[in-house]
Amino acid sequence: MSSDKDEKIFSEIISLIKKHKKFLLIAHVDPDGDCVGSMLAIAALLETMDKRVGCYIPGIVSEKYNALPRMRLLLSQEEVKSYQYDVSFVVDTPTLERGGNIITADDERIIVNIDHHPTNERFGSINFIKDKTAATAILVYYLLSSMDGNVITPEIADYLYMGIVMDTGCFKFQNTDAESLFVASKLVEYGARASEITRKFFYMKKFRSFKVLSRVLANLQLFDNGRIAVMELTNSILEEFQAKVEDTEGFIDYAMAIEGVELVAFLREIEPGQVRASLRSLNHLNVASFAEKHGGGGHNKAAGLTINYDLEKSRDIVISGFREIFLTSS
Ligand code: 5GP
Ligand code: MN
Repeated sequence: MSSDKDEKIFSEIISLIKKHKKFLLIAHVDPDGDCVGSMLAIAALLETMDKRVGCYIPGIVSEKYNALPRMRLLLSQEEVKSYQYDVSFVVDTPTLERGGNIITADDERIIVNIDHHPTNERFGSINFIKDKTAATAILVYYLLSSMDGNVITPEIADYLYMGIVMDTGCFKFQNTDAESLFVASKLVEYGARASEITRKFFYMKKFRSFKVLSRVLANLQLFDNGRIAVMELTNSILEEFQAKVEDTEGFIDYAMAIEGVELVAFLREIEPGQVRASLRSLNHLNVASFAEKHGGGGHNKAAGLTINYDLEKSRDIVISGFREIFLTSS
């Protein structure tokens, strides 16, 4: 819940919004529902206040997010370079590098940094960072609820609800708490379509996604008496079903659902000799420090990194890292 200190930050942000005309909103690479939802909620707010808004997301955005109406504000890498703005909002993005280095810390314009990653580098002129909060969308909800009048339209409520649903795994990850459930219920009061949003963004997948999943599950391996699960995906499986990386969203949750499993890695071949690793943990086990040590980052229980080795060697690296986590946290 928000404190007096937060109220001070909100009034600073609100006066910035009132004072300036042109805004750039930035989200992180491989954007998830929380960062897209947080970004579009702020975009919708600013547009209703007759501000000029541009959004930037480095890299590829999933089709399902791209289809959201306010995504018409998305700027290409070329367009963002010449886009004129006074204030930027960087949401759900722990480092400016994850934001595609589109702005730098020595930028003279004002940066508003809103995030819930413990690894956030506090690069903003204003930093609203709460690492115990389940989703950045909850922080955006607090900001918007501190404004005069009812600024949370049903469209904004949908975006923020989507953010909470995606970052809590539909209210089942260990970050699901009284705060996330409370804010979600407030958003439903503001008009969020709980069931539709959950189906459209969380459950519903293309048929090809299930084909790929069946292969990945068939090859899933357990180690260390079933405490570690490793899932792997080669490019050839994606090619076989003409699937995209976005079709693999949520796969890792299946491995986390296996009884006895405490640490999970989903290893995806980016190209020969390069692997993207998603990591998850249960209870007190912390995967963020291992990810950070290898150039990645994230939350204690959900982190990611890129490994510059083939799948086999990447698997060895991750399993050794996991064993170290068991040793240091027992
Ligand atoms: P995912 O496994 O879903 O891609 O990422 C899990 C969490 O770790 C997300 O909060 C994501 O933002 C963060 N994350 C994933 N990869 C990286 C990375 O390379 N660097 C940093 N700093 N965070 C990451
Ligand atoms: Mn998030």
